[in-house]
Amino acid sequence: MIIKKSELSSFLDKLTGQYQVLAPVKKGLEFYFQPISSGVQADLSYSNSVTAPKGILFPQSETLFNYDVQGETADMQECLDTGKKVIFGLRPCDAKSLVLLDKVFHGEKYQDPYYLSRRANTVLVGLGCGEPRGTCFCASLDGGPFGTEGLDLLLVDIGDKYVVEVVSEKGASFLTGASLPLAGKDDRAAAAKAKETAFQACTINLEGLKEKMDVNYDDPVWGFLHEKCLGCGACTYSCPTCHCFDILDEVKDSTGCRVRNWDACMFPLFTLHGSGHNPRPTGKERFRQRFMHKFKYFVDNYGAFACVGCGRCILNCPVNIDIRQVLADIKAGGDEK
Ligand code: SF4
Ligand code: SF4
Repeated sequence: MIIKKSELSSFLDKLTGQYQVLAPVKKGLEFYFQPISSGVQADLSYSNSVTAPKGILFPQSETLFNYDVQGETADMQECLDTGKKVIFGLRPCDAKSLVLLDKVFHGEKYQDPYYLSRRANTVLVGLGCGEPRGTCFCASLDGGPFGTEGLDLLLVDIGDKYVVEVVSEKGASFLTGASLPLAGKDDRAAAAKAKETAFQACTINLEGLKEKMDVNYDDPVWGFLHEKCLGCGACTYSCPTCHCFDILDEVKDSTGCRVRNWDACMFPLFTLHGSGHNPRPTGKERFRQRFMHKFKYFVDNYGAFACVGCGRCILNCPVNIDIRQVLADIKAGGDEK
């Protein structure tokens, strides 16, 4: 099937009547995923959003439930979001990140109803990357600029139209009644050509990384890798796979609400105990934890790196720490001084 670019706005207009539609919206020079009320607000001429669309399914701050305590009893209202949503135009790396988050929030031991409710009610319409950014390395992480993992539909830009590829049953039923024209032979050939060229641009060498991280907890390399890091958390807050959170109660008289907020291993308070002891007392331990979690512990627990190569941490770091260089330095190891 195809969507002509000249008809994209009216296609989205129709969707907004049935779903909450979230799409890239330009603000200043940057793009953010935001709810749109009209198709003209969406702008697919973007490389990627500043923050990951992960926040639509796992918000930075959300109320889990409200309560009112009366004597020994309490009324409780759970805040499950069951609204139907479409995330339109997300990049393949960000769709793959949701497959990784599924492993955490839809695990054997732990099921997160808040994330799962949004996930089940959301259609993911991806947009392949014809021109990946210089900071992208998705193809080294079992993904690619036109990867389909996690998606329901994939759009491939072929100039004046998008070829729409159906990836899942959810995607197929989403298109029922859309009356889109079928892609012709030339359209399909143009889509195949667009895919060929983009893949090569997104690779780095991660061979041997996990094996190295299995044995390098005390490597001297950790003593200097963190030195530039400010501990600001911009990398973790913009990362599509980071998922650490904190839960607290906000209480007024007999009523209150339980709130979940993102947190980050790069912050000193994240592991500070009530006793005053902090098992990760300096930037060295916190920096090491970020990399150990993504490239060792997550692999041990779930069989995949917790990174999709989106490059946001590279672009957002105020002191230009580049994860690709850090990974190369980790592999090379440090010398004993
Ligand atoms: S660690 Fe960096 S490159 Fe990897 S997914 Fe997170 S933000 Fe993207
Ligand atoms: S964005 Fe850069 S400076 Fe900030 S915590 Fe991450 S690595 Fe450190």
